Amino acid sequence: MTAFLDACRAAIGAAHILTDPADMAAYLTDQRRRHTGAALAVIKPGTSEEVAAIVRLCALHRVPVVPQGGNTGLVLGSVPDTSGAAVVLSLTRLNRIRSIDVINDTLVAEAGCILKNIQEAASAADRLFPLSLASEGSCTIGGNLSSNAGGTAVLRYGNARELCLGLEVVTAAGDLWDGLRGLRKDNTGYDLRDLFIGAEGTLGIITAAVLKLHPRPRAQLTALAALRSPAAALGLLAMARQECGDTLTGFELMSDLCLQMVHRHFPALRAPFAQAYPQYVLLEVSDGESSEHATQLLEGLMDAALKAGLAEDAVVAASLAQSANLWQLREHISAAQAAEGKNIKHDIAVPISRIGEFIDTTGRLLEQAFPGCRLVTFGHLGDGNLHYNVAAPAGMTDHAFLARQAEVNRVVHDSVHSFGGAISAEHGLGALKREEILRYKSPVEMALQRSIKQALDPLNLMNPGKLI
Ligand code: FAD
Repeated sequence: MTAFLDACRAAIGAAHILTDPADMAAYLTDQRRRHTGAALAVIKPGTSEEVAAIVRLCALHRVPVVPQGGNTGLVLGSVPDTSGAAVVLSLTRLNRIRSIDVINDTLVAEAGCILKNIQEAASAADRLFPLSLASEGSCTIGGNLSSNAGGTAVLRYGNARELCLGLEVVTAAGDLWDGLRGLRKDNTGYDLRDLFIGAEGTLGIITAAVLKLHPRPRAQLTALAALRSPAAALGLLAMARQECGDTLTGFELMSDLCLQMVHRHFPALRAPFAQAYPQYVLLEVSDGESSEHATQLLEGLMDAALKAGLAEDAVVAASLAQSANLWQLREHISAAQAAEGKNIKHDIAVPISRIGEFIDTTGRLLEQAFPGCRLVTFGHLGDGNLHYNVAAPAGMTDHAFLARQAEVNRVVHDSVHSFGGAISAEHGLGALKREEILRYKSPVEMALQRSIKQALDPLNLMNPGKLI
């Protein structure tokens, strides 16, 4: 492989080809430190043309390519296997915002742009780029699009897919496809853009994207409602949609167990109610008029929910600082859970109308199979997407419980499937769920997916071993 690496050095400069183990280390271990792979090199091109040159060399020398953005993915998609045969292609040097068009409401960003920088560039032009996730300070737009990321504002603005109008892509053969069209209507053949979005780097390398901008809301306001059950939360969701329409931008469910854990590990954070309730919903409205209008809307909604018996108690934030404090409860759940010990995580979706039934049924099935197991359920109820995490029963070690992970997954995923759901709603399949998905997709669907992979990546060099 010396000839290959020499050719790469000639193409983009020796300084951007890392082969020293210490230099490569950060690129080889996944976000949750569950896996450390090996690579021939970590390659860091600085332009789309350089990406194309490297991919052409990989095709010529039959070297597998693992594209990597911020490496914040949670399904082992952005790290190589342990064979040491692949290169990690880091896109982080492609980090320019190429242009902003405020009339077309679009922004063109290179794949390695950090999401937060894109939000800030939009904001500086008095526009909103609404994709927002807890990893936004380090994830990249190329990774967001490749995993079709969700986050906290999907209810109003959609996933990454719905925020992208066009792409620039380096194909598996190393050709550069310029599909950077800022069009909202384009019925001129197969939608190639949508093939690359959510493909987890298995079909080609995204090098830039045209992103859709939105008007910046004049006010954002948050409320926390305490509820009896997930079914009541669904009733509140229907009412909130009716009353608030498009201003409703967040609707997050959290069980009492989640908030107990947050309070235990972050004592300053607690729900602002005199007593505990089984469930809580964090609502956010983003108002185009004014903060007075947002307050009126949210207070009116909470009054109606209390009168209708959907909410047991509710607070509406009186300031931005109070809104931020309420969001802290939601944002600290993952950290509190980590402090509590290991748990078995699921990122699932079911039709919104069936979430209550799903939570009840799956909870019963798990209790039968693993008596005393603790369910840490929270997530984007407005999108039908739950983080459905299962922790060991009191008295059982994490190690003993994790040894039964496959059995727990089977109960949860079979139940998700029986409710017409998906076993991955946000994080993708990566290397983690690539085998598991075969149980739930029909042979017809898998065959169609394989034929797309074969057509676009006949040498199977684009992120092999992931997704398909
Ligand atoms: P990476 O992790 O580097 O890569 C992700 C996948 O995309 C890999 O398969 C990789 O090969 C591929 N890829 C990366 N860049 C390219 C490219 N330019 N071209 C082709 N393929 C590419 N995800 C959500 O959806 N919603 C959330 O709310 C959310 N919250 C999170 C919170 C935390 C604290 C953390 C750590 C993660 C969270 N994630 C969430 C997961 C993760 O941040 C997202 O999946 C994110 O979109 C990944 O971006 P990245 O740049 O880190 O991509």
